[in-house]
Amino acid sequence: MKVGYVALVGRPNVGKSTLLNKILGQKVAIISDKPQTTRTNILGIKTTQKGQIIFVDNPGIHRPLHKLNKRMMNIVYSSLQTSDLICLLIDATQRYGHGDQFVIETLGNTSTPLILLINKVDIIKKEKILLLIDTYKDLLDFKEIIPISALKGTNVDVLEEKLYDFLPEAEKIYSDEEISNQSQRFLLSEIIREKLLRHVREELPFVTAVYVEIIEDYVRSTDHELPPGESTEASRPKARKYIMASIFVEKDNHRRIIIGRRGQMIKTIGTEARLEMEKILETRVFLDLGVKVRERWRDKADVLDLIEGQKENIQLGPNNTSHKL
Ligand code: GDP
Ligand code: MG
Repeated sequence: MKVGYVALVGRPNVGKSTLLNKILGQKVAIISDKPQTTRTNILGIKTTQKGQIIFVDNPGIHRPLHKLNKRMMNIVYSSLQTSDLICLLIDATQRYGHGDQFVIETLGNTSTPLILLINKVDIIKKEKILLLIDTYKDLLDFKEIIPISALKGTNVDVLEEKLYDFLPEAEKIYSDEEISNQSQRFLLSEIIREKLLRHVREELPFVTAVYVEIIEDYVRSTDHELPPGESTEASRPKARKYIMASIFVEKDNHRRIIIGRRGQMIKTIGTEARLEMEKILETRVFLDLGVKVRERWRDKADVLDLIEGQKENIQLGPNNTSHKL
């Protein structure tokens, strides 16, 4: 069968996570209309009769400024080199600019085959697509140029078929059930971050990070005290998870914004995140969400290590508690 890695690259906000989720038919990458939503590689795995496509969702390509951004760019470079195919996504509603030029320069340095995906064609005129094809066709050696709508699914099936042409014959790497390599803990932190990004503006998306500190099974103490056989529907233990998470910000005024007037903002973020977690975990969730100020965390290796460490499927420490910051 055909098995290989496909890197999804492009500037922040072009729709990479939306495309990945569409292809997988399930949410593995968070979506936001704020740039720089995805900070680490996420593998989405699609297994069909024909083969297995392993998608790498990248942080957007941009000039590195902070240590955080430098790390992100290193991740981008390495995933480009090790992929079998690179899909460059562009946002059809945007004009070609300096940021795009930087992406083109970055891709010009790899020998991996490339295809161009012109995304968001659901909200632009046909002529605009032709203009974009004209602008891009000679910039790099694109093997294919496909206009798509990741949101509506237009041409996504066509794209999926095409991808197999670029993959080598090989054995499956992941089992049929696996759709992502990301840990449950990371997904939970990403859910919180998605809700957070939905509600904050301006510089806040860039200065926030979410760290899930505790995931614990939680049973009400009285449930244990009932003699066997005497539990009623209402008194039976309800499966529950206790989740403690922190939102890191850089300044006290960021903290105040996220907490909001009378705690309204953090309450909204927490409720939206909890409801989604309950759907995914299929259990009731108690979400304990706090905000912590860590000046210049984006330049601090210990904070970055912790946040990235959530991705790995490592067991949390005794009592499921990990390092606290
Ligand atoms: P990423 O940063 O490249 O991963 O971008 P996201 O997948 O997070 O999407 C950024 C924004 O673009 C979100 O608001 C999406 O809903 C929107 N978007 C993505 N694909 C499409 C599309 O095909 N059509 C339209 N109209 N919007 C889209
Ligand atoms: Mg993304």
